[in-house]
Amino acid sequence: MAVKTVWPIHHQCGHDQDHDLSEKRASERAGFARWLAGRDCAECWRISREAKETRASQGRFTEHSGHRAHRITLWERRSRMPHLEGSDKAIEWARRVRFDLLTAAYACVDTEDGFVVSVEEPAKSITSASWWIDQRDADPESLSELVLDAAGDCVTNTGSVSPY
Ligand SMILES: [Zn+2]
Repeated sequence: MAVKTVWPIHHQCGHDQDHDLSEKRASERAGFARWLAGRDCAECWRISREAKETRASQGRFTEHSGHRAHRITLWERRSRMPHLEGSDKAIEWARRVRFDLLTAAYACVDTEDGFVVSVEEPAKSITSASWWIDQRDADPESLSELVLDAAGDCVTNTGSVSPY
């Protein structure tokens, strides 16, 4: 059997991504795949590079928002939040909304387990940036209802969430 050309890589940032290694020599693919696994996925790499560039070009005036972007990125990695889909602008906005809503909702729940099951896991199946932007004024206490509702008929569900 030929050495596979598309390798599923589990990146250090926690995201899975398929990589086409057909341009590498067959004997070099496994080593390259290991090297890739020790790095961030393309999307996380782009996000952290942009955050750095923003900080560098705008200096201290945006220190606050740069810091916030960094906090959001860290939180997304820790909670293994999926990347969102939409235009760059929409994604940036939606990531802030998602972060604000989920951290606010976390403060409202009784137990961490309850939060994971009723908010965090269903939220992970919603990758539409526009959906998150639509919920920007939602009450954090009713977020669970919103995400469970959306997760129920979410076509982009990756299968990591049990069917509600
Ligand atoms: Zn990533």
